[in-house]
Amino acid sequence: MSKIIRMNEQNYLSSGKTRSISRVLNSDQTTEGEGFIVNRAFPTRHLSDLDPFLLLDEIGPKDLAPREAKGAPDHPHRGFETVTYMLEGKFEHKDSTGNAGKLGPGDVQWMTAGAGVVHSELPEKEFAQRGGLLHGFQLWVNLPKKDKMINPRYQDIPSLKIPVSKTADNLVMAKVIAGEALGVKAVIETRTPIMYIHFTLQPGASITQPVPKEYNVFVYVIGGQGLFGFDNKKQLANRGQIITFDNDGEEVEIRAASDTRAAFDVLLIAGKPLNESVARYGPFVMNKREEIMEAIADYQNGSMGKITPS
Ligand code: FE
Repeated sequence: MSKIIRMNEQNYLSSGKTRSISRVLNSDQTTEGEGFIVNRAFPTRHLSDLDPFLLLDEIGPKDLAPREAKGAPDHPHRGFETVTYMLEGKFEHKDSTGNAGKLGPGDVQWMTAGAGVVHSELPEKEFAQRGGLLHGFQLWVNLPKKDKMINPRYQDIPSLKIPVSKTADNLVMAKVIAGEALGVKAVIETRTPIMYIHFTLQPGASITQPVPKEYNVFVYVIGGQGLFGFDNKKQLANRGQIITFDNDGEEVEIRAASDTRAAFDVLLIAGKPLNESVARYGPFVMNKREEIMEAIADYQNGSMGKITPS
């Protein structure tokens, strides 16, 4: 297959190697936990999931007044992973296996619920008192059938330990949370092959990220404006939108608009699909309905444990 031929900045010939865009969708505003507002990229009525991903929420961005911050008190999870990436503000978590910690700007928590945990995700006390800007993401990653009942695991990675890479011209920066980008590998371990990259592109810059053809991939726009696709299917995307791609190539092209001063800030998230049946009910994601009933019973009879007060 022929390589892409760059005609000029906004005119590409499709080659079959760069993926075509499938859809550009808006996120839905909804509430979570005690009532904090999130932009939900999916599941929505337009997009139920993107195997192996089950949910992506953008928390904020919201400038909170003192004591306005809300969180998600004690609740269970089984059968999947929750990945929290903070951009602004501070959260603290605690769980039934005895883990506790704080998450500040740039920090990532990759929580593998496996057989089950009960945890709380709350605004950090001082931050909640003081108020301030809150902004972050939570992604839900499904676990393969064989891993659904493994022991829970936490990977708490501070911002300083998240590998960062830049192009030689400094126009594109990548924070590599999972997978690999611009020659740099992530430190977080995933159960199945996942890519989670935070790209920041200066106006007019572009980046081509290799993504194996079988992976499902999407881009979520955090800020700025960009251009996706080529030929007769070229589309602009703005903050709060999600772009999905066809499985017709081995790379994804992201281009920042040039007629603006704002950087184009996006998450590129990709993963190898599990292609297994999904039974989901609230905080439990299993393969069969009976396993959901089991999860509810296990939670109710206390076998997922509880958070011991400090
Ligand atoms: Fe949770």
